[in-house]
Amino acid sequence: MALRNIRQFGDPVLRKECKPIRLVTPRIKTLAEDMLDTMYAANGVGLAGPQVGIVKQIVVIDIGDGPIVMLNPVIVESSGEQTDSEGCLSYPGKAADVTRPSFVKAEYDDLDMVHKTIEAEGLLARAICHETDHLHGIIYTDLAKGEVYDTHYDEEEGEE
Ligand code: ZN
Repeated sequence: MALRNIRQFGDPVLRKECKPIRLVTPRIKTLAEDMLDTMYAANGVGLAGPQVGIVKQIVVIDIGDGPIVMLNPVIVESSGEQTDSEGCLSYPGKAADVTRPSFVKAEYDDLDMVHKTIEAEGLLARAICHETDHLHGIIYTDLAKGEVYDTHYDEEEGEE
């Protein structure tokens, strides 16, 4: 298990447009494992490449139903609306209310470069939106309604 350093808000890497991954090298597989380890160690539910300084289209998510590694994720459909508290591992101890679609359908490549489709609601839909945004330099506070507020690590949803 290898933990990576989580980049914090203000780090310019979080504003970069990430490059697609066309070939899954051993290095990419190790990166995915390290990102999951890093996310779990920080009690998060999602982590994106730029958050560990990698400007590539990779995200990991686990909302409690098992790990998902998504390469090159694209949200192809969304509907509905949900507004809830959202945080980020790059901005620990903080959260803000963010409105997201209540349903999303996303396409991505897995670590075997198999093209997949996922349909998600609720927290998983929120996590997919949040992490996909990271790949395009978008941070949840860009979308927040109102102020960013202090939170605590043991809150129900964790941080992304
Ligand atoms: Zn985040």
